[in-house]
Amino acid sequence: MTDRYAVIGNPVDHSLSPRIHAAFAARAREDIEYGRLEAPTDGFAGAAHRFFAEGGQGLNVTLPFKLDAWQWVDSHDDAAAASGAVNTIVVDGNAKRGCNTDGIGLIRDLLDNLGWHLDGARTLVLGAGGAAQGVIEPLKRGGAVDVTIANRTQSKAEALAARFDVASAGLGEVGGGWDVILNATAAGLAGTGGLVAPEVVADGRCYDLFYALDGATPFCRWAADQGAKEVSDGLGMLIEQAAAAFLLWRGVRPDTGGIEKALRSSA
Ligand code: NAP
Repeated sequence: MTDRYAVIGNPVDHSLSPRIHAAFAARAREDIEYGRLEAPTDGFAGAAHRFFAEGGQGLNVTLPFKLDAWQWVDSHDDAAAASGAVNTIVVDGNAKRGCNTDGIGLIRDLLDNLGWHLDGARTLVLGAGGAAQGVIEPLKRGGAVDVTIANRTQSKAEALAARFDVASAGLGEVGGGWDVILNATAAGLAGTGGLVAPEVVADGRCYDLFYALDGATPFCRWAADQGAKEVSDGLGMLIEQAAAAFLLWRGVRPDTGGIEKALRSSA
């Protein structure tokens, strides 16, 4: 019988994950079905329970459920335990294990795909939600220094910074001098992309975890206009975190080469 997987979120209708996993399955010759599961915002537990009771073999978890998923699962892998957020659920006997592949996905995209360096890089993270939580520890392990979290609600940045032993600031008070700036806010398409003062991004490498198929997210466009050295959206991270989830589920690491280009050219 074909094993069933899905991405659960709200909204989830525009998710690219089904296309990405279909490409992985074809390349790895794995017989899987991967769909979309939209749950009511207060209904994660019921929807996840039903999915697995009906034979589902694994879930990816997206907005706004990464923290609900962390509470719902029976155990956590190291990445999920460290981040407090779950983006992948694996069946583990009768239990469900919560994992987090966002950090490894980001690091693979930054280092292997984009060829950026983290070792000794002064690194600023904008945002203090589930995505930021998942990437701070991997960034530190990758060699990032002076890691600072800046968030619209400063108290949340302070709480996260205390947990990961890094610095914090309000969005409006950050200065310049960063090597790598990550936009992990959920501002997405809202606004002009200018979340911080122009000198914050000038001369830095700017990465937007949000993505657009043409690569031109508001943050990427704005950062390029302010003189950023390089900009990238987060489509590569999406593909790499999916590959890490596929490996957890199927025991096979799929080939990710060319998938980003194929998705962008289908826009
Ligand atoms: P989340 O938990 O809802 O966190 C939202 C964060 O964004 C909070 O820090 C919030 O600040 C801030 N924020 C929201 N609207 C803002 C605005 N207009 N201006 C400034 N800050 C704003 O969301 P998340 O799960 O962390 O996701 C964040 C982003 O990462 C999303 O765009 C998501 O699509 C992306 N993401 C991408 C990947 C990938 O594979 N590429 C993986 C994970 C996440 P307050 O605390 O002040 O509300």
